[in-house]
Amino acid sequence: MPPADLPTYADVEAAAQRIQGHAHRTPVLTSHTLDQALGAEVFFKCENFQRMGAFKFRGAFNTLAQFDEQQRRRGVVTFSSGNHAQGIALAARTLGIPATIVMPHDAPAAKIAATRGYGATVVGYDRYSEDRAAIGQTLAEQHGLTLVPPYDHPGVVAGQGTVAKELIEHTGPLDTLLVPLGGGGLLSGCALAARTLSPACQVLGVEPEAANDGQQSLRAGRIVRIDTPHTLADGAQTQYLGNYTFALIRKLVDDILTAPDAGLVRAMRFFAERMKMVVEPTGCLGLAALWEQPEAWRGKRIGVVITGGNVDLARYAQLLAQD
Ligand SMILES: *Cc1c(COP(=O)(O)O)cnc(C)c1O
Repeated sequence: MPPADLPTYADVEAAAQRIQGHAHRTPVLTSHTLDQALGAEVFFKCENFQRMGAFKFRGAFNTLAQFDEQQRRRGVVTFSSGNHAQGIALAARTLGIPATIVMPHDAPAAKIAATRGYGATVVGYDRYSEDRAAIGQTLAEQHGLTLVPPYDHPGVVAGQGTVAKELIEHTGPLDTLLVPLGGGGLLSGCALAARTLSPACQVLGVEPEAANDGQQSLRAGRIVRIDTPHTLADGAQTQYLGNYTFALIRKLVDDILTAPDAGLVRAMRFFAERMKMVVEPTGCLGLAALWEQPEAWRGKRIGVVITGGNVDLARYAQLLAQD
């Protein structure tokens, strides 16, 4: 049974009102070189330029802004491989709410440092042996904190949907929208917006090849769980979709594609060299998926969400240098 309180496009509109003046309306950029190579028009929604460097600030702020007095006083707790943590930490600081973040010990150093820098308390765990959700739940119960999960939450989904709302308001109707997929907060929110603002638009999720639990789930008609996948795309390393996100993806998303890690590195290099942008591996999934079937997009107007730009610089340099 899907949850009874599935978000709708009206919730995305309400989220857009809440985040206005707090989140950036990020730029939409194009590349003549890419358009020529694909025979298509590609519009990149650049959430690597969002506050804290990824779209996660939208869902976090939209959710925390709806806390009541007591929730605000006691604080928020969450678990995340990085960007959701920073989103919650920054939104919490903005709203004067104490934040506790459960993060893997091996998360990129830049992400851990940034999360602490936003004033949050960081609690570490081992991502290959411990259950982060259980740790977050225990902290919530012990200290009366409100748990805001990274994707399976109506406020988070509605907030992330503002990405596609802004994109389509800027570009007009699209033929295809490609959205990186981890736990599905971004994809399900963007699908809500696209279905209303550009009803004929084909909505596609993109996962790392090694982390295709969403693709498997869509095909099986139930949430398929996988072991923690090994991929460069640390923002899409999730093992399973959520109840809200799976219900919306099943209803609204046309298909889920995959991209190999080598394609992510090639896309990182393209963004750096041609578009002068630092994009983290997970943010490259959309472009990498376009390159997987370069003939498939001729004559189309395509929206691609670049989800974030938070990458350890030493790691980034290493990836760009390898051939
Ligand atoms: C969280 C994240 C994703 C995946 O978003 P979901 O809502 O979990 O599907 C993709 N890219 C980046 C950079 C992220 O931080």
